[in-house]
Amino acid sequence: MGKNQKTNHTDVNTLGEFGLIEHLTRNFALNNVSSIKGIGDDAAVLNANDEEVLLVSTDMLVEGIHFDPAYTPLKHLGYKSIVVNVSDIYAMNGTPTQVTVSIAISNRYSVEALDELYAGILLACEKYDVDLVGGDTTSCPKGMTISVTALGRAKQGQVSYRSGAQVGDVICLTGYLGAAYLGLQILEREKQIYLENPQIQPDLDNASYLIESILKPEAAKDSVDYFHKHGITPTSMIDVSDGLASELFHIAKQSNVGLYIEEVNLPIHQETQLKAISFNIDPLTCAMHGGEDYELLFTINPKDLEKVKYMPDVYMIGDIVEADQGLKLHTSGGNIKNLVAQGWQHFRDEKS
Ligand code: ADP
Ligand code: MG
Repeated sequence: MGKNQKTNHTDVNTLGEFGLIEHLTRNFALNNVSSIKGIGDDAAVLNANDEEVLLVSTDMLVEGIHFDPAYTPLKHLGYKSIVVNVSDIYAMNGTPTQVTVSIAISNRYSVEALDELYAGILLACEKYDVDLVGGDTTSCPKGMTISVTALGRAKQGQVSYRSGAQVGDVICLTGYLGAAYLGLQILEREKQIYLENPQIQPDLDNASYLIESILKPEAAKDSVDYFHKHGITPTSMIDVSDGLASELFHIAKQSNVGLYIEEVNLPIHQETQLKAISFNIDPLTCAMHGGEDYELLFTINPKDLEKVKYMPDVYMIGDIVEADQGLKLHTSGGNIKNLVAQGWQHFRDEKS
């Protein structure tokens, strides 16, 4: 290429995360018969045997983007790196079985620090019944990146895809929304106060639920165990990593349906409500766009509602309707609004 020849430079922000993935993978087809589902769901689905399919999912945590070492204990980080991955296996109505863990570390991290990270990984492997079976270790110029791949199994015919929601299905959630987002806001604010005045001790005592939600989330194992025990297959399912609104858009788009959500039925913990108000943030915004909740959003055929009603944690938040009705929110005040998707915008963060 000539020295003065201009090369194209398209900013990745013009496509957004999902647009970029679509763009990069546009030339790839599934050519092996064992590849049942490739890109586009919480995990890939591969043919294993007559009874079962194999599930595979990868997620990466990058220092400065997904975690801030200033307030993220490494043990929690290790734990979370496993949780966010097994969550994607549960989101397919599967059971996680193995993980691989790859780390890129700068010389800022000592053996003792990495022991802490792996103590958290061990704790999560025990809690979620998965075996650590491999990975990779390498160095990097700064910070740390953790990439985990989770493998799992599901029964043939019992996989819940994002694309299976049907008109008339009921939309459900396995737990509260918005807490992790507020936990992050609290930690960010405390960090700023500390940077301005290191003498001031962080005031985190009254916010343990919110802070734990961001630093040490749990995956919805109990809910999926319940599905298996009672022979329930959600017609569609996704985990809430980017915020409820964004996940609802995925379900609606891939299932080719519309939906509406009842604001009064959204599960928002009282502590989330109170802290949101004290921060001057609408609790609804936290629930809709906060993200990192790792609850499961799923749809259920009305015939299964009797069984689902008795799940330990379940909230029925709306209904699936025809595609031409769009995505709507029935507000507590009796208004009808169009849903908008925001989600996390890591690319924007990276540039600032
Ligand atoms: P989730 O939020 O459930 O982890 P993502 O939004 O990260 O899912 O990814 C959406 C889909 O795109 C998944 O099927 C994922 O495997 C796929 N994907 C993401 N990044 C890439 C990439 N760089 N190359 C190929 N596939 C990708
Ligand atoms: Mg997911």
